[in-house]
Amino acid sequence: MTTTNLSHSRSVPTRRRFLGHLGALGGSSLVMTALSSWDLMAGPAGTRPVLSGRPRNAKVLILGAGISGLALGYELSRLGYDFHVLEARDRVGGLVWTVHGGTTHTEIGGEHQQCTWDEGLWLNAGAWRIPYTHTGVLNYCKELGVPLEIFVNEADASYFYREGADAGSLANTRVRLGEVKADIVGQVNELLVKAIDQHSLDLPLTAEDQERLVGFLVAQGYLDRKDRRYRAFADRGPGDPYQLSALLKAGFGDRLRSISPRDGITTAPMFHPVGGMEQIPKAFARAIGPSRITFNAEVHSVRQDDHAATVAYRDTKTGRTRTLTADYVVVCLPLSIVAGLDCQLSAEMMAAVRATTYSNSAKAGLGMKRRFWEEDDQIFGGHLYSNLPIGEFSYPSTGYFSRKGVLLGFYLHSGPAVTLMDRPIGERVEHVLTHSSKVHPQMRREFESAYCVWWRKVEYSRGGFANAAPLARRAQLSKFENRLLIGSAATAPHSEPDWQEGAIAAAWQALTSLHEHAMRS
Ligand SMILES: Cc1cc2nc3c(=O)[nH]c(=O)nc-3n(C[C@H](O)[C@H](O)[C@H](O)COP(=O)(O)OP(=O)(O)OC[C@H]3O[C@@H](n4cnc5c(N)ncnc54)[C@H](O)[C@@H]3O)c2cc1C
Repeated sequence: MTTTNLSHSRSVPTRRRFLGHLGALGGSSLVMTALSSWDLMAGPAGTRPVLSGRPRNAKVLILGAGISGLALGYELSRLGYDFHVLEARDRVGGLVWTVHGGTTHTEIGGEHQQCTWDEGLWLNAGAWRIPYTHTGVLNYCKELGVPLEIFVNEADASYFYREGADAGSLANTRVRLGEVKADIVGQVNELLVKAIDQHSLDLPLTAEDQERLVGFLVAQGYLDRKDRRYRAFADRGPGDPYQLSALLKAGFGDRLRSISPRDGITTAPMFHPVGGMEQIPKAFARAIGPSRITFNAEVHSVRQDDHAATVAYRDTKTGRTRTLTADYVVVCLPLSIVAGLDCQLSAEMMAAVRATTYSNSAKAGLGMKRRFWEEDDQIFGGHLYSNLPIGEFSYPSTGYFSRKGVLLGFYLHSGPAVTLMDRPIGERVEHVLTHSSKVHPQMRREFESAYCVWWRKVEYSRGGFANAAPLARRAQLSKFENRLLIGSAATAPHSEPDWQEGAIAAAWQALTSLHEHAMRS
């Protein structure tokens, strides 16, 4: 995309005005060409700002090289700004963190881990999947040359497993997703066809339409064409169908839909970058250029007056404190960190910062000597749907048919298992092995080594993703305060902040606001 200065004034052309201008010149086909060539049809992050003009004296400091800080830096570089990014860690990405052999971290409170998986094995400890609707992040992948592959969010061979009296007769039984789908749809359709045949439904359909409906139900529900009964069939797997009442009692029907009413976790297809989610922040960093980012720069104070903003940071390698000044500072840090900084923001802003909460997310990657879920169970990607106290348990969507693999053994944010946060890592791993062995008895035999990430215990995050805030708080967080602006995912205006798409929405909002301000000054 090239930046076109359509306006001779210093005002910033909005995207709508820009497209209107193209339309006036070349009609709607020119507008559509512009849209498809940018691939910028609005997604949950809204539309990417189309800005032009270059302010004369606008030096910008971006605090934090997570997705929000990097997307902002990338857009500022395209507008020709003088900017610099300060990042406390020795890597980019923040919550976008791919764990490999050699990765280390020390939890707040003590325990140190070193990942020992073989080369080529990895786990995305934070962001791990991108719904196809997240056009903001997907378009950056395209623009920055980040290869994507399908993230398998559903595999028919994977299991449902529920324990406890509430699960009824199917408690403690592994039932394949494919069997659940066939048996529920088959039996529901059989009931519907019976009711139509018996004229017990008051249908607003002609006789011909009813016949078509019955034809659809028979085909979709795998019903016998003659007697219209549902029976198990070869491709469903061996054994008799499970009773509809038992499947419903066990709650197995609740994952049988792909269009999510809210945040897209059940959407298909989903994507992930080849080689791990870290490829996205790394690509942003390459595009921005290494000289624009200072690593190991732990910011501890942000002050401002009418002339400049001053940031003080500690170089964590040398222990020395340094200061930098700029015309503007955009704070792309987790607000859980901002709350503890010496930050010259108004009392209202700091109250909104402190009121923002972050998820208590944790993941455990289990390195396995053998891909038994593929070899023994024919499960290729997807998840285990269980009520075991391990949250989400998932199979890798990569490296199929190779020897070893990494299972996501534990991914949760709430529930009784969060008490594990205060337990030694060995105990957390033992917990995962004990529970997951109920479904996969091979777990202990094939287990090699684990890596656990509890985001509240990770320095420079101190929490998982930002929880959605009420509109009024988001409006407060997005206010420009003299020379300071917040730009991390918690301020996302359109989409939920618990996705990278939210971080991009927040970066775009900060970008527009900053550019308007800088062009006026
Ligand atoms: C467990 C989990 C699962 C997720 N799953 C998905 C998913 O599947 N798909 C998806 O799209 N999104 C997912 N997300 C959400 C996504 O990761 C976040 O919304 C997004 O990465 C937030 O980006 P950010 O730039 O706002 O913040 P961050 O990533 O938190 O970046 C902030 C940066 O500031 C730096 N920093 C902190 N303190 C200082 C300091 N004092 N000085 C200097 N720098 C500092 C940090 O090191 C970090 O680099 C998930 C998040 C989690 C935790």
